[in-house]
Amino acid sequence: MSKDLDEILEKLEKGEISLSRLEKIIGNANLAALARRIFLERKLGISLSSIASTILDFEVLYGRNIENPIGAVQIPVGVVGPLRVNGEYARGDFYVPLATTEGALVASISRGVKAITLSGGATTRIIADGMTRAPLIRTESVSEAVKLVAWIREHWDMLREEAGKATRHGALVDFYPYIVGNLVWIRMKYSTGDAMGMNMATIASDRVCRRILEEYPGRIECVALSGNMCSDKKPAIVNRLLGRGKYVVAEALVKREVVEERLKTTPEAIHYVNISKNLMGSAAAGSPSYNAHVANIIAAIFLATGQDAAQIVESSLAFTWTEPRSEGLYISVTLPSLEVGTVGGGTRLPTQREALSIMGVAGGGDPVGSNALKFAEIVAATVLAGELNLLAALAAGHLASAHELLGRGKIRGGQS
Ligand code: NAP
Repeated sequence: MSKDLDEILEKLEKGEISLSRLEKIIGNANLAALARRIFLERKLGISLSSIASTILDFEVLYGRNIENPIGAVQIPVGVVGPLRVNGEYARGDFYVPLATTEGALVASISRGVKAITLSGGATTRIIADGMTRAPLIRTESVSEAVKLVAWIREHWDMLREEAGKATRHGALVDFYPYIVGNLVWIRMKYSTGDAMGMNMATIASDRVCRRILEEYPGRIECVALSGNMCSDKKPAIVNRLLGRGKYVVAEALVKREVVEERLKTTPEAIHYVNISKNLMGSAAAGSPSYNAHVANIIAAIFLATGQDAAQIVESSLAFTWTEPRSEGLYISVTLPSLEVGTVGGGTRLPTQREALSIMGVAGGGDPVGSNALKFAEIVAATVLAGELNLLAALAAGHLASAHELLGRGKIRGGQS
């Protein structure tokens, strides 16, 4: 160990310098990570050799994706497919990477994927697209609040132009005002190209707010750039009603013989489980989300592909709908608030970028935005497979035995 590093560790131990200053002092983010690790190992009497083992270059990630780095954690990645998707943007057979430590999850989704592909695939449609940020503005009274909303409408072109100065790929497209007493939320909606768009929308909304404060002739103040009506990283009905990110639907007509032979149950039995569990059960529980385990699939895809993990909260808001028909089972999932991107944030990390490339959606699309929309359709189709399989397993009474087998290490190898 170099003399310099020894001195730095001694100062860290004495509390003379803080962990957050190491990049500045050492001048190299990878060495700073090493120093932090050694400091923790000595102080706590533990080994961090596994966390140390990573291909990540903190010289690239520091200041963009992480502060105070010490290394990386690893999550196993499995794959399902081929999944046939008949979308507007995703057309063909896809393999989907899933990062999870939950045994049985990949096998479960894989069985649903097989059933959907054997039945001709999932049809997907994007209903709406737009990332939102809702600044909270305080006025003097409700009449002032109403005046402010009217003023924003009158000056919309100016505000849209102001937002456009913040980004080349984003654009302010709409707003939804919400008034409570003298308080006003301006829920601004942005197209964000292939980016999930939360930084883009926040930076642009800051410009818009400043312009409103400068130009509006009444007494107002911006209480918070994010006023929680956005609504980011919190379960919220507003996202379910108005949409956030991609509002996407995936559906399939699963053939009766596939349900019977592959899933070992009937369309009628799956339908009864769906309405009594997903609809009545969720209503009885007071849940805003009416599905079986959408968060499982969303979380596994988000972790594999570098999406913002905290947005699993609203991205897994979903309705699962079924209808037994003479030909088989109609099943759909509706995701009104799926926040995904193929550029920006964690998508630039090397393993996450490779995971996106498995689906052919790494980086910016041509035309701009088409990769993110294609990705959203693939995510929705995979969610559909996950919902189908779990409902079928419950209908057939197989859930506990599958988890015992696959989650408790009792078999090695795959399942059909
Ligand atoms: P970002 O990485 O901040 O922005 C995307 C960048 O990619 C922009 O610089 C954009 O350029 C550029 N770009 C290049 N090609 C593009 C294309 N085809 N489509 C769109 N953009 C393209 O990412 P973001 O999606 O806006 O924000 C995601 C990050 O925000 C994540 O790290 C997330 O964790 C974080 N986040 C932030 C907040 C917040 O309040 N700020 C909240 C939640 C999450 P232009 O800007 O010139 O268009």
